[in-house]
Amino acid sequence: MQRAGLILTTKKNPMRQNRHRTSKKQLQLKGVPAAPGIVIGRVHVFGTEELMPPKRNIAAEEIPAEIERFKKGLAETKKEIIEIEETISREMGVEHGRIFSAHLLVLEDVVLVEEVIARLKKKKRNVESIFAEVLNKYIDVLSDAKDEYLRERVSDITDVGKRILRNLMGGRRDSGLEDLSEKAIVVAYDLSPSDTAMMHKGRVLGFATDIGGRTSHTAIMAKSLEIPAVVGLENVTDVVENGDRVILDGMHGVVIVNPTKRFIEKYEKEKKRYESIEKELVELKLLPSETLDGEKVVLAGNIELPEDVASVLSHGAEGIGLYRTEYFFMNRRDLPSEEEQFNAYKSVATRIKPYYVIVRTLDLGGDKFLSQLDVPREMNPFMGWRAIRFCLARPDIFKTQLRAILRASAFGNLKLMYPMISGVEEFRQANAVVEEVKTDLKKQGIPFNENIPIGAMIEVPSAALTSDVLAKEAAFFSIGTNDLIQYSLAVDRVNEKIAYLYEPTHPAVLNLIKLIIDNGHRENISVGLCGEMAGDISLVMILLGLGLDEFSTSPIAVPEVKKIVRSVTRAQAKDIAEKVLGMQTGKQVQQFARAKLKELVPDVAGEWSEG
Ligand code: PEP
Ligand code: MG
Repeated sequence: MQRAGLILTTKKNPMRQNRHRTSKKQLQLKGVPAAPGIVIGRVHVFGTEELMPPKRNIAAEEIPAEIERFKKGLAETKKEIIEIEETISREMGVEHGRIFSAHLLVLEDVVLVEEVIARLKKKKRNVESIFAEVLNKYIDVLSDAKDEYLRERVSDITDVGKRILRNLMGGRRDSGLEDLSEKAIVVAYDLSPSDTAMMHKGRVLGFATDIGGRTSHTAIMAKSLEIPAVVGLENVTDVVENGDRVILDGMHGVVIVNPTKRFIEKYEKEKKRYESIEKELVELKLLPSETLDGEKVVLAGNIELPEDVASVLSHGAEGIGLYRTEYFFMNRRDLPSEEEQFNAYKSVATRIKPYYVIVRTLDLGGDKFLSQLDVPREMNPFMGWRAIRFCLARPDIFKTQLRAILRASAFGNLKLMYPMISGVEEFRQANAVVEEVKTDLKKQGIPFNENIPIGAMIEVPSAALTSDVLAKEAAFFSIGTNDLIQYSLAVDRVNEKIAYLYEPTHPAVLNLIKLIIDNGHRENISVGLCGEMAGDISLVMILLGLGLDEFSTSPIAVPEVKKIVRSVTRAQAKDIAEKVLGMQTGKQVQQFARAKLKELVPDVAGEWSEG
């Protein structure tokens, strides 16, 4: 249910890591699911060889030749990176290729280059050992930087640094993953984008890394390559060694080291189930998303980046129920310009056409920080200066985004939605800013959809409880259960210690959802749900029964949700919802929902939903 932390921090210097070995007992590790699929195989530990070049003293006369060698090494590396950038842009799209521009910037870092030359002259040692020294100093300093942007640059610097060292030492040009001799699950402290991009697709069954979040470039690449992956496992490199058998479950972010026979059998079964669902997906994609009695239900996908549109379409979703635009603002030093945002929103709107995309305005805060904005850390970030509150206080940022969204609305079926609305006043204030932007655009003769539907995310209990009022002014509702649950149950959604209290089936949550849907329908507006709950297979029937019009979930969950929708009548679902509304605890609801799923859609329920 929880989304893992989004900030990449790395305390370990990947150039100097020490690995040690523990027992051969089964061990289960939990990380961040980066790309779906289940694989079982042997481990290939990658990238732990320490590139610590031997030290050699040199004579003063050798200095110019060493500097020359350094410059040649840099030039060679530059050529390689440009080649990779071109290949990746051609094969995977320019968005992926652009990652390597950051690598070129490292190469052109004058301070780094000058420091190497100055030390070389002073210490009179071979250039590779001097370069490694400077590089390690950079990595250590950046790993401890307060600025998240700087910390995130560690993997770029490491990647380029290793490449330069290899060239200086006359080493191989490849990353070592293109020519794995047999199929393996690659385990690494981190995989650089170039390692991932150059992977031998047929041999790399999956990969697992110590660091990384779901928005890390490595995770994004894994999804594009369709290689199952789990990142952010923290210590996987400490507990496995070459040849160990592991199970990697990219859907749930789980890696099981040295699994018992029972676990292997269980996962083999689950793998088959997943693969047969994948196969069925092809047929399901063409079938309408409607209940057994023919009532239409919209199944949409959630996206974070424009490139996720492909996955939405390939999983048979009919629209985008939540576009989390803040991801566009992450991993960069500056704020995206109006033009950049416009191009991104326009590209999503045109690719998803004729379906709609609900663009959510900047939802900064909580667990999503933007280093370039210098927003002070707060005691209660989830209840603080975030989302629409922040945007209303920073009209410069808000208006730039609104202009880009409105301009893009001329090119597709685009809807606008505000996050974290707490009451009708806030909704009106945000609308007033939209009106100002519309007036400006009109004056400038820039086209946009004047009737763009504007909806409210209902994720704060006060908005849920006053949704009767909001429904009179909003064009639609989308229930954000990830936050609604944390606020209504007072359970921090990212705190592991109280995760057991985070219950989507809690009667308080179900009653709030019912209230929102009923109030929306009274005013004839559509009510969707875009939190993780929409993709929880055991809860789909309850939500259907409560009258939900639209499910928006991560694209990979869409086929299963569709299968469940197509397996029940609205009346059956209504009956289930009525029964659970009469229950006293979340556990009771959960057990009942799982049993019903097993009874009505046994092949989807499988053993899995039992946890
Ligand atoms: C939610 O709160 O349910 C939601 C979908 O938004 P986010 O997870 O981005 O806070
Ligand atoms: Mg939210």
